[in-house]
Amino acid sequence: MRTQVGIVGAGPAGLMLSHLLHLAGVESVILECRSRQYIEERVRAGVLEQGTVDLMIETGVGERLRREGLRHDGVWFSFGGRRHRINMAELTGGRAITVYAQQEVVKDLVEARLTAGGHIVFEVDELTVHDLDSKLPKIRYHKDGEAEELACDFIAGCDGFHGVCRPSVPEGVITAYERVYPFAWLGILAEAAPSSEELVYTYHPRGFALFSMRSPQVTRLYLQCTPDEDLMQWPDDRVWEELCARMRTEDGWAPAVGPVIQKGVTGMRSFVIEPMQYGRLFLAGDAAHIVPPTGAKGLNLAVSDVRVLSQALEAFYKSGRGDLLDQYSAKCLRRIWKVQRFSWWMTSMLHVFPGGDAFDQRRQLAELDYITSSRAAMTALAENYAGLPLE
Ligand SMILES: Cc1cc2nc3c(=O)[nH]c(=O)nc-3n(C[C@H](O)[C@H](O)[C@H](O)COP(=O)(O)OP(=O)(O)OC[C@H]3O[C@@H](n4cnc5c(N)ncnc54)[C@H](O)[C@@H]3O)c2cc1C
Repeated sequence: MRTQVGIVGAGPAGLMLSHLLHLAGVESVILECRSRQYIEERVRAGVLEQGTVDLMIETGVGERLRREGLRHDGVWFSFGGRRHRINMAELTGGRAITVYAQQEVVKDLVEARLTAGGHIVFEVDELTVHDLDSKLPKIRYHKDGEAEELACDFIAGCDGFHGVCRPSVPEGVITAYERVYPFAWLGILAEAAPSSEELVYTYHPRGFALFSMRSPQVTRLYLQCTPDEDLMQWPDDRVWEELCARMRTEDGWAPAVGPVIQKGVTGMRSFVIEPMQYGRLFLAGDAAHIVPPTGAKGLNLAVSDVRVLSQALEAFYKSGRGDLLDQYSAKCLRRIWKVQRFSWWMTSMLHVFPGGDAFDQRRQLAELDYITSSRAAMTALAENYAGLPLE
């Protein structure tokens, strides 16, 4: 098989890249190790920045998002038993976030690619990448037990944090910058109508908690836990007790309780590689960076990377320009580091750090008081949360 761009991974990065390339008249093939059903049911992120929403709508994959997505003009911060609202839309000239689950984004993109005759090979095994510094890199893999090879002009490594593309870059080319946090999130999905129309970030001496939702019937909740937390120790009753202890406010607000339909622990890390390119391999999304989920940026960063990459590839095929491909890494990293800073800052402000003392607690409370009372501070938060402009 031969194609212009071989894409490893059918997550948001790989699927959106393939979609944008198709609109630009560039051919691609996506190779994915999981089944279609698996990727369409995988529960992960759910908060879309304004730029992600606009891009989906402008490129024709936003119809269901427009109908079913929950637009939030504001976001709440709760501390000292009281909730404070930041009106993002008013502070940013109408920009907002939209709650629309990642698996729905994935479903819409898979559907769009297949309807347009796009080529996605699911359930590939033993995928490896070769000849990355040549003009004809190759992807070898097994499908239904048969060895296959895809020769391409470029490879896009969109295979997530644990993928094979990043480790295939020769040693010494890439520098990794990393911070691992001394806590994690225990997350649940619950069949309970959200008791707040907007997200509520809670700082509490017992630890951070987040109230979020995925639909008008399903609540998504998180609480700070230890990185090696044993889920067996967290029967549903205990999860609800702890969530309510952290989130209940003086005015009586608390999350609505309902049957838990999913439960898991997510680690917290900041990770960036530089550069995001080697020869004809371009890394995008979680393959190149991870943000702690506090800022709700992972999926959005994946989309902004592939937008830059698709424009560079379009320029290459339409006018033979290689300069945009050479600038891919630097262009993406400018935005990535700002988003890393924001995600680290939100994480540092809202979590209880093991070993932290009363000084840290008072400093965090002062910061929360500041960001919910100063218009300048609220504006800075709002423009980052609703999403910095795409490069
Ligand atoms: C468990 C988990 C929970 C998360 N929860 C949240 C959240 O609550 N809020 C939030 O904002 N963000 C969350 N994130 C982050 C967000 O979901 C990611 O940033 C986003 O999925 C990045 O998209 P991506 O396409 O770069 O990578 P992925 O979505 O990881 O896609 C990579 C794809 O590559 C495939 N793949 C991997 N290896 C191979 C291989 N060798 N061969 C072929 N295919 C391969 C994978 O199956 C996958 O489909 C979460 C991430 C994880 C992992």
